[in-house]
Amino acid sequence: MSAFPEFNPFAIPASSASPQSPNSSNSTNSNGAIVHGIPLPELRHLAGNDWSEIEADPSLLEAFAAAVQARRLREQGQIPDGWTETVTCAGCGPVPLWPGLPEKVLACPWCFNRLRGLPVPRA
Ligand SMILES: [Zn+2]
Repeated sequence: MSAFPEFNPFAIPASSASPQSPNSSNSTNSNGAIVHGIPLPELRHLAGNDWSEIEADPSLLEAFAAAVQARRLREQGQIPDGWTETVTCAGCGPVPLWPGLPEKVLACPWCFNRLRGLPVPRA
């Protein structure tokens, strides 16, 4: 006794809601894929339980890979793209950060490097 015999919500693919970018230059077609310089298997490992959600959404995968890459660059003391402003951190002193921050901050991403003995760039 179904009023809508043709309506089956489970037949709709979950991915239909997220259109793919036609200009995407990333290759995500196999195990050898690398996104933002990070191999897919490594991203899968880093994502842990969130991987199925990230893998299903190209824009989420892109954002996740970019975040991992930016963190790696920071851990090497390299300044990420767009960190063009000099901000004085209470812990680190003058450091390069992204635009739009106040002149002085109590803590910054470079604090993680400083506390772990990793390199901190000087602005
Ligand atoms: Zn700092």
